[in-house]
Amino acid sequence: MTQKYSGMPVFEFLRGVKSKNIDITDFYGALFAELKKLQKKYNYFVTLSEESASAQLKHNPGGALSGLALSVKDNICTKGIRTTAGSKILEDYVPPFDATCISKVKNEGGIIIGKTVQDEFGFGTFSVNSAFGAPKNPIDPERSCGGSSGGAGGLTAALEFPHVAIAESTGGSISAPAGFCGVYGLTATYGRISRYGLVDYASSLDKIGVMAKNVDDISLVLSKIAGKDAKDSTSLAEKVDDYVGAKIDLKKLKIGVPREFFGSEINEEIKKSIWAQIKKLEAEGAKVEECSLPNTEFSIPAYYIIAMSEASTNLAKFCGMRYGATLPLEGEFNEYFSKVRGNYLGEEAKRRIILGTYARMAGYRDQYYLKALKVRQLIINDYKHAFKKYDVLISPTMPFIAPKFSEIEKLTPVQHYYADILTGSPNLAGIPMLSVPCGKSKGMPVGMHILGDYLAEKTILAVGKEISG
Ligand code: GLN
Repeated sequence: MTQKYSGMPVFEFLRGVKSKNIDITDFYGALFAELKKLQKKYNYFVTLSEESASAQLKHNPGGALSGLALSVKDNICTKGIRTTAGSKILEDYVPPFDATCISKVKNEGGIIIGKTVQDEFGFGTFSVNSAFGAPKNPIDPERSCGGSSGGAGGLTAALEFPHVAIAESTGGSISAPAGFCGVYGLTATYGRISRYGLVDYASSLDKIGVMAKNVDDISLVLSKIAGKDAKDSTSLAEKVDDYVGAKIDLKKLKIGVPREFFGSEINEEIKKSIWAQIKKLEAEGAKVEECSLPNTEFSIPAYYIIAMSEASTNLAKFCGMRYGATLPLEGEFNEYFSKVRGNYLGEEAKRRIILGTYARMAGYRDQYYLKALKVRQLIINDYKHAFKKYDVLISPTMPFIAPKFSEIEKLTPVQHYYADILTGSPNLAGIPMLSVPCGKSKGMPVGMHILGDYLAEKTILAVGKEISG
């Protein structure tokens, strides 16, 4: 039964549903049986939403995504389906509303199959900071899927049924799992997709995006969820491109290769794989030039200061009064808040709240938070300058292949943060990025990062398509 749907491309599936050649009830029966098997083995879901999927199937409005299985990162609110953001403090939180991107896919007939595992509130690069267990890499279960959208990445790689994942990135959370699991991951321009209904981590950085087994599937879902939303004042009004089938003439493509992204801290085999792919593009007519993003070395300190500062204020609402976990009301308010937060927040969340509060405290604000904002502007200027000359920039996605859990355990928090050395900077700038599979190293996938100018999703998807053949 499972065999029938295994390897079926999303577009073929959608045609089959439309023409009624696919029995949707049979498909979802087989799909959930498979998801439960995967869940036991790899832990990709916090919640599997079989019941609400069948309710959705009964009242399907039809549309461009009619019948399509979509998994959703657990920090995106889904009406009637628990949304934990990977935290114990939201373990029982069931939103009474859908995030805008969810209502959009539902209106097109998309079916929500469950909520994928992530680092608590997005705090991490390996999904080991999840309160619901870490997802395992399907290629080698002793290794991480990456993070923070680790469940989305692992599931996309492991599941042979047609499926698309909706995920989110603040500082690399789509690219890292895409790279480590060997799938495609698009982080859209900041503001391209409404953040309404996203459990915020750092509001000036959070971006919703899409992961899939190929570029076209990403393009399809992106074109349905992008666009201005009156409920998110930071969403962009620019017209949404038709991303599906985007093409590019390689002979007219100018590729910049930032030398700062090929430093000694990046694994040699990974660099070789990326260069081999760049050379191929060059042989097919693209113009390739090395270039510089001179402020790259400051991106990790700037990113973490800004991200933690914003997180420390965004997380203030989780205090046991308004959302999520509560305890018997006792003592002064401060005592009560501290008790709830002390009990239910994880170690990394506490670390970030403390550091973020410190960085924006009177007396330190100028030295840390405001300085980081200035550095961010310099990084943005570096990209603006580069995109005057180049259509895309290319680099490895991650500095190493998916690490083993036993290796991650030994990392200090700062070493952990430096895993974002390639992804922090484009995320700070808010530009769109696509991670595409690019060969293997030691049997594990290598990801290549294609960075584009603001709102140039169409260009990077077209380049990704060229590479995937
Ligand atoms: N690893 C980065 C962090 O811990 C980015 C995570 C994310 O994009 N949510 O903040």
